[in-house]
Formats: sequence, C-alpha cells, structure tokens
Amino acid sequence: MGKAIAIDGPSASGKSSVSKGVAAALGFIYVDSGALYRGVTWQAIRKGVNVKDAAAVLECMHNTDWDFFVQEGAAVFSVDGDVPVQELREKEVREAVAHVASVPEIREFVVESLQSLINFGSLVMEGRDIGTVVFPDSPYKFYLDADPEERAMRRYRELVTAGEDEKAHEVMESLKKRDQIDATRKADPLKVAEGAQRIDSTSMTLEDVIQTVMDKVQENV
Ligand code: C5P
Repeated sequence: MGKAIAIDGPSASGKSSVSKGVAAALGFIYVDSGALYRGVTWQAIRKGVNVKDAAAVLECMHNTDWDFFVQEGAAVFSVDGDVPVQELREKEVREAVAHVASVPEIREFVVESLQSLINFGSLVMEGRDIGTVVFPDSPYKFYLDADPEERAMRRYRELVTAGEDEKAHEVMESLKKRDQIDATRKADPLKVAEGAQRIDSTSMTLEDVIQTVMDKVQENV
C-alpha cells in the first residue's frame, strides 16, 4: 500500500507549491483535491445547472462520466471525456465551489474518488480534509497556514500574473468568504487534523516549508 502525505490548510496558504515540491522530491503523485470539487462545479455550470441547487448539482455529478489517471506525476481526471485545467480556475467556478463542496453527498463521492487514487501509488494530497477525513490514519499530516493578508496578496499576485483583472481588496473579500464557508460548514469543515504538524508560512520561503515537511516525513519513514 502506498503512503499518503496530507497537506491541508486555507486558501492560498501555499499548499499547491509545497505539495508539488514534496511530491517531486519524493517521486510521489501530486493530487489537488480541490480540483475535483472545482470539476464538479465546472460540470454543473457548463450543463446549465443552478450551482445553489444541491440536488440538481448532485444529479448532474452522478450523470457524468469521471475517469482518473496519472499524467506527468500528477493525478488528473476527465469529465465526460474532457480534461479541464484552466477552466477550473475561472471566476464563476471559484465563486461557487465552496457552496458545492458543502454538500455532504458530493463530498462522499469526492472523498471516495480521492481515496481510490492510492491504487496509483504514494501520494501527496492537498486539500481541506485530507488529514481529517480522506486519509485520517496517515502518519504524515500537515496544516499549512499564513496570515490572511499574506494569503490574499499571494492569491492576488497569482491572478494578476494569470492576466485576470482583479482588485486586491476584492480578492481579500472573496478569500475571507471562502475561508468562512470552508471552516464553518457542517460536512468536514477545515480544521487541524489530530496529529498534524502546523506550519505558519507567513515569513518562510517555499524551500523552507518544503524542507520542514520533508524532515518530518523522513523522521517517520
Ligand atoms: O484548494 P482549492 O482552492 O482549489 O479548493 C476549492 C474549494 O474546494 C475550497 O474552497 C473548498 O470549498 C473545497 N475543498 C474542500 N475540501 C478539499 C479541497 C477543497 O472542501 N479537500
């Protein structure tokens, strides 16, 4: 059975860069669990489903063909034969995803899909509930955090680099809203998993955070 390194934390806490770095260093498969919640949201939007209608989103999800595979060291999925990547980052998806991810039956499908990825090999999986729900027995659990202002600035810079026309204060507001929904929802809210090491990356470099995770993982091998 492969190993699963769980990296949880709020939006823009550095999970993606850290998870990709750790996966590359260890030769593990990188998994972006949020992409699957975004995929369900994206599919609903492109099918014209009202994303606030949980039953309709659920039905749309069940009527979709999902397929999982590994490409260039990362787990990827297709949605009725299409592989969305950039589409998952669109504003419409970003603003609806936390609502979609708060539906318990949708979470069940995503959690089971994520758990099945261990059949591909050892994983570094980033998300909100990886250490608490998806792989609660993993000895490798991390909770990445950073000050909200720092996280909002990071996300703002990412969006501007991607060519999006966003205002810094709007990014801050949207991030706060998403954090609030993620941390207060009934189903699998964002919280520090039991046994997780909390890392505050506010004034750390990416390399330092990756090294901190690697040190801890190697301690447990
Ligand atoms: O990580 P990312 O920002 O792409 O996640 C998008 C959304 O998906 C989060 O705001 C959260 O609502 C949901 N999510 C989740 N559990 C995860 C990963 C993401 O609820 N493990």
